[in-house]
Amino acid sequence: LEKLRGRLSRSRSSLGQGLLGLLGAGDLDEDSWTDVEDTLLLADLGAATTADVVAKLRAELSTRGVRTAEQARAVLRSVLVEALRPDFDRAVRALPHGDGEAKQPAVVLVAGVNGTGKTTTTGKLARVLVADGRSVVLGAADTFRAAAADQLQTWADRVGARVVRGKEGGDPAAVAFDAVKTGRADGVDAVLVDTAGRLHTKVGLMDELGKVKRVVEKQAEVDEVLLVLDATTGQNGLTQARVFSEVVEVTGIVLTKLDGTAKGGIVFQVQRELGVPVKLVGLGEGPDDLAPFEPEAFVDALLG
Ligand code: GDP
Repeated sequence: LEKLRGRLSRSRSSLGQGLLGLLGAGDLDEDSWTDVEDTLLLADLGAATTADVVAKLRAELSTRGVRTAEQARAVLRSVLVEALRPDFDRAVRALPHGDGEAKQPAVVLVAGVNGTGKTTTTGKLARVLVADGRSVVLGAADTFRAAAADQLQTWADRVGARVVRGKEGGDPAAVAFDAVKTGRADGVDAVLVDTAGRLHTKVGLMDELGKVKRVVEKQAEVDEVLLVLDATTGQNGLTQARVFSEVVEVTGIVLTKLDGTAKGGIVFQVQRELGVPVKLVGLGEGPDDLAPFEPEAFVDALLG
């Protein structure tokens, strides 16, 4: 939590200080409410969430008669946390770890546009699982980016996992298939597949990622499709999330580079619009810079 606070300091300064300065000042006039709105929009909360949050804040502040910055902070915190807990029709499941007896490996596909941090996230996730005593096979199915397989190999060597890779420019689905096959044969707990992230067209993505999933499903259930989004891209991330979720059933979002942006508010929009939970956040380039997403901790970090 301390780390999250520190890493989110840029978000904190823009959202927390601005809002608390406004809300702590007692009765707000219309201009101040407009400033509150602008602050939330600038932090990427999106129009719908901003309208909701402002309406709730107005109601809460007037009924409770908030007078101090401390009280304002408490109200703001609870309104924002609530906004991060939409009614998902699907419960937020814990990430699959495999059953530890390795009857069937848990299969996780990691998807996303190149540059978002897909390979890094796959590596970090492997590290978390291995540290938890699980055996892991990594599938280097991003065969289009020349360095991706080597990068994944470096992570695997570092954390102690095996990599299955194919020919450069080869068929991603074939690599994914082999990775799952190897994982089953070796009796590992989890197979993490770093998929190709070419978003040239929706049809192209469908052909690639959709095929990877279909081919993997010939031998194992896919437990999780994690979509990696770069928080620094703001609204672009939302657009990417829409396209991917039309192609495959995305079961969770990993929001990366939260350490480098004041745009963490995209979390609100992604969850609200897609109904897909943000499960993990990336807080840096190092092996330990992956954390579970926790609304309370996130809002605290945002508010400082
Ligand atoms: P891919 O093309 O999606 O596989 O992207 P990579 O995993 O190669 O990551 C692209 C760049 O983003 C690399 O330089 C990573 O070190 C960096 N990166 C990934 N995740 C994070 C993060 O959470 N924070 C920061 N600051 N950098 C990250």
